[in-house]
Amino acid sequence: MASIFTKIVRGDIPCYKVAETDKFLAFLDINPLAKGHTLVIPKKEVDYYFDLDDNLITGLTLFSKKVAKAIKKVIPCERIGVTVIGLEVPHVHVHLIPINSIYDMEFSKGKIDMNIEEFIQISEMISNAMV
Ligand code: 5GP
Repeated sequence: MASIFTKIVRGDIPCYKVAETDKFLAFLDINPLAKGHTLVIPKKEVDYYFDLDDNLITGLTLFSKKVAKAIKKVIPCERIGVTVIGLEVPHVHVHLIPINSIYDMEFSKGKIDMNIEEFIQISEMISNAMV
């Protein structure tokens, strides 16, 4: 069965898109740790990050770098934290999270509340900051 992220890639379920290439997609995490928390995925469905072939893992990293720089431009923060977990969704995704302290990367803490208007506004701001 297709992963939830493959369904997003296909347009079967919606997302707040930030950026896209023919191989990669970036969109806001629906349960964010911080405003601007973004997921970057390869469109090809691969479960485990270290099973990506060299081209895809390199491309994903370079695309994540572009997205991270765009997030940093529009979300006030010390830096963009990056992590790969993948225990919930079996489709590789890089978390990009605006942080000011190590505790801002704590996944077991409560997620923040954001309304639809904020999701739309933030995804558009990051998208517009992409070069
Ligand atoms: P992980 O697999 O790295 O532990 O976490 C999966 C992440 O994907 C979580 O942060 C969760 O909020 C996010 N997520 C799960 N389902 C969806 C979805 O349908 N849409 C979006 N945008 N994010 C999702």
